[in-house]
This record gives sequence, C-alpha cells and structure tokens, in this order.
Amino acid sequence: MEETEKRSYRGDFPVRDEDVKASFKYNVADMVGGEGLLRCLKCGACSGGCPVGAVIDYRPRKVLGNVLLGLKDEVLSTDQIWLCAACFTCEERCVQQVNFTDVVTVLRNMASKEGHAAQGYVKMAEMVRQNGRVSARTGLVDKMREQLGLPPLHDPDITQLQGIMKAAGLNEVLAANQKKEVESD
Ligand code: SF4
Ligand code: SF4
Repeated sequence: MEETEKRSYRGDFPVRDEDVKASFKYNVADMVGGEGLLRCLKCGACSGGCPVGAVIDYRPRKVLGNVLLGLKDEVLSTDQIWLCAACFTCEERCVQQVNFTDVVTVLRNMASKEGHAAQGYVKMAEMVRQNGRVSARTGLVDKMREQLGLPPLHDPDITQLQGIMKAAGLNEVLAANQKKEVESD
C-alpha cells in the first residue's frame, strides 16, 4: 500500500495508524498529576486563556488532544510541552479539573527519560547539580548585593543535593539528554 493511502487526516496534520499508541493516555493518567487527563472534553477554555498561546503558536488543548489521540512521539519529541509557563490560568478555567499544569509535568518527565528534554532545562539541572544554583555566582552579583546592602552569598554544601539527585535517577536522565545534545551538534 502506498504511504499516502495509509494516512488519514485528523486536525491539521496527517496521522498514520503506526503513529498511534493507544495505551499512551492511560500511561499518562496513571502517573501522579496525570489523573485528570481522561476528564478533558477538549472544550478549549484552557487555550482561550493561555498567556503563552496569546503570543506564540501554543495551545494546551492541542497538546491534550494529541495525548488523547495516542500520538506519543509527536507529544514527547516536539517543543510544545516545554512552552507552558506554569501560570495555572488554565487550571482555574477548566470546568473538568484536568489540571493541565500537572499533566504537562508528567509529559515533561516522560520526554526527559527519552532524551527529549528542552536544552534550557537540561543546562539548568546541570548547573544545580554542579553548583546548587540555577545560575552561576559571579563577581558582579556579589558586588551588586554589597551595593544593595544584602548579605553575601555562601556556596552551599551540595553533597546532600547530589545524593538526592542521584537517588532520584537524575544523573541518567541528564546523561540521556546531554548525549542527545552532543549528537545534534
Ligand atoms: S483541559 Fe479543561 S479547559 Fe482545557 S480543553 Fe480540557 S476540559 Fe477544556
Ligand atoms: S499553565 Fe501553561 S498552559 Fe496553562 S495557561 Fe499557563 S502557560 Fe498556558
């Protein structure tokens, strides 16, 4: 059968039967934070109020629709799930208590385990692992704190933090995503 014959069109992109993972939505709903997913009616109230969607091409309803369709690879490998700013407006508007912000956290965790984490988050996590901070301590920061009358920063003891990150499996997740970054260079 020709590839074009195997395709059907749902929404604005072609969906092939082999792209559909029927169990995906149940896998997401089984995770802590993903429980509300199956209550989604795709009414669009979340997209209508999303401040990120007001300025760029991002629609939480579309993300949810793709999850419910079973488009696992489409959802986990594109940048869409990394665009949410976690402002919780969609959660306030949703009449079904889907809790999209929690659902997107589940999706991000899944994507990270498969090496699809957004590189900005990977770099932040690596910074925390190395320094205990999300940004580097610089001489300029120290000087500005002094000028503002703020107490000096102290370098944290990161031994415990690194132990927690190791126990949580973050080292493997970071390695998977950093390997991908090297491959794409
Ligand atoms: S998450 Fe809620 S607001 Fe958004 S489409 Fe689903 S039911 Fe509607
Ligand atoms: S929590 Fe994310 S998806 Fe929901 S309204 Fe805010 S930015 Fe949009």
